[in-house]
Amino acid sequence: MTTREQLHEISRNLWWSWHPEALSLLKRLNRDAYKASGNNPIVALNLAKADVLSDAQVQADVDTVYRQFRDYMESPGGQEHAPKTAYFCMEYGLHESLPFYSGGLGILAGDHTKAASDVGLPLTAVGLFLRDGYFRQYFDKTGSQHDDYPAIDSTQHAVELATDANGDPITVTVHVGHREVFLRAWKVCVGKTVLYLLDTDFAANPFDIRFLSRRLYQGDRSTRIQQEIILGIGGIRLLRALGESFDVHHMNEGHCAFLTLELLRERLERGESRSDAEEAVRQQCVFTTHTPVIAGHDRFDAGLFNFSMQVIRESLHMSEFDLLAYGRVHPNDFNEEFTMTVLGLKLSRKANGVSKLHGSVARHQWQSLYPSLKPDEVPITHVTNGVHLPTWAAPASRSFLDVHLGSWEKDRERQETWDRLSQVSDKSIWEYRTRLRAGLISFVNDHVRTQTMSQDARLDREALTIGFARRFATYKRAPLLFTDLERITRLFENADHPIQVIYAGKAHPQDEGGKDFIQQIFELSHRPEFNGRLIFLENYNMEVGRKLISGCDVWLNNPRRPMEASGTSGQKIAIHGGLNLSIPDGWWPEGYDGTNGWSIGSNASHEYEDPSVQDPRDAVLLYEKLENEVIPLFYERNSSGRPEKWIQMVRSAMTGLTYSFSAHRMIKDYIRDIYTKGS
Ligand SMILES: *Cc1c(COP(=O)(O)O)cnc(C)c1O
Repeated sequence: MTTREQLHEISRNLWWSWHPEALSLLKRLNRDAYKASGNNPIVALNLAKADVLSDAQVQADVDTVYRQFRDYMESPGGQEHAPKTAYFCMEYGLHESLPFYSGGLGILAGDHTKAASDVGLPLTAVGLFLRDGYFRQYFDKTGSQHDDYPAIDSTQHAVELATDANGDPITVTVHVGHREVFLRAWKVCVGKTVLYLLDTDFAANPFDIRFLSRRLYQGDRSTRIQQEIILGIGGIRLLRALGESFDVHHMNEGHCAFLTLELLRERLERGESRSDAEEAVRQQCVFTTHTPVIAGHDRFDAGLFNFSMQVIRESLHMSEFDLLAYGRVHPNDFNEEFTMTVLGLKLSRKANGVSKLHGSVARHQWQSLYPSLKPDEVPITHVTNGVHLPTWAAPASRSFLDVHLGSWEKDRERQETWDRLSQVSDKSIWEYRTRLRAGLISFVNDHVRTQTMSQDARLDREALTIGFARRFATYKRAPLLFTDLERITRLFENADHPIQVIYAGKAHPQDEGGKDFIQQIFELSHRPEFNGRLIFLENYNMEVGRKLISGCDVWLNNPRRPMEASGTSGQKIAIHGGLNLSIPDGWWPEGYDGTNGWSIGSNASHEYEDPSVQDPRDAVLLYEKLENEVIPLFYERNSSGRPEKWIQMVRSAMTGLTYSFSAHRMIKDYIRDIYTKGS
């Protein structure tokens, strides 16, 4: 094989997105093109410089990486005999060059597909080909958020049309309303996992239909239900056209729950009775909910639902009442909307929330579906989310762990592996933290210069660095730190104990409250009293995320409890030796043990009916933690200039949290507790 052929093969599998040696090789082919294309390695390969390709060292490196790739693809991961699983999700966060995600749900789905590949789980994933993706964010001089939808060019990405034996694109059809829609699919190789992305944007469809699959969470309810018909019903039809069937269909959040109706239709068509067919579908389906707030669940009013589902309903030979009943808690309530989560719960054999706390919240939330059961008996369990360490670990973390923990990637499941951190010196750990922080600061300095609204960053490589980056949904309360401006200003003005805070995040374009939060922080970041040490980074994506979670000393999370189903960004920091400062919401009550970060208040102290009471109280608790614990501990230095107690907390967090909140632990939990029958 020629070097070019090897590179071509490597580049066509997103395996490179979690194998840094592969990515840096592709990057090296044309660094400028890589950067200018938004970190797209295919562009770097297409525009590879001739002198780089002919370089003997590069050719040798390509050989090595190619061998690693083949080894990975051919060696078993251990879970090859687990149930064959079809995984459905509206969004996937795989790499910043493929903008098919808006936030935590998509990142989780991307991490799930990668971990499935690593452990050899036979999993096929299905989503939408969101050609325009979620938006690129930029600010004007008032800090007002603007959105831009640069379409991706399929010839410049690791995607190819799914074709049949003759090499012709596979197409399937679904009806949205009375209109027939043609779908084709793009195949994305994620290691050993294949992800199919359904697409309406081709000549067989009229203009408005072509637009349907392009954008994530945009448009009105009618667009949304049409997208969900495509994902759920079209997704199953695509799998059939590929000749595939599965033991388990995993609905990751309600958007894809229409898939149950297609499974039902197949059985009814074969002559099964309605009750037999329903039970059989249930036996094939599992459902994960991510939404702790009732109002946050995807739902459609009966008029829109009946209109959009008319042909599908006829093919099921059901009345409007009967079909609506699958999505209603009380089928006889004609005002009740059709809720996708209810459909998912009614037609699955197993359901879960995404943290222990969220499991309990979900059981209370859906108790009305199981009127004979007490909340604790509601059949919704939990699998706590985790993050894919090979994707999120900074290169410096890998080398640090290679040196100190040996074959940690292979032995990640063994607690002894992580316990070896107790032997690592304070000096090594502090140097590690200092290096990661410095890396972040130089990234931020570059980033703010290229922003649409450039900012005057005066970050200090030695100062306590706090990060906050996530979607700007209002329940996450991004500006909570600025509730009492005088109090926070005093902290910023203390020259002996300097702090700096870096924010990033997108608000949904229709979320005025979230956009307002961005503007508030943006405006504050330009005030002199914050001295160039309060920064708002534009266009939060996986790249910005990776930098922030590796470099920050403290990761702040202050949602209105219990609205954070899990949260995963705080899990990403553990391997980097960052410390969580978080409301005990989502995954954190499971992670926090008193030695590995901070809890803002106790588990019981946070649930008030009224946000105007809860928010200021939580803000006071946050200030107290910062003033009395976090900042003093960081600056309590020994004679060698190191914060011993802080370093001990870092050690404790790295030891206890890294594997427990990883996607490899998560995927094994899913296989054992959810995918395997009788579990
Ligand atoms: C990890 C991550 C998220 C999820 O963050 P939460 O803390 O779960 O809200 C969202 N967006 C990006 C880009 C991420 O990397």
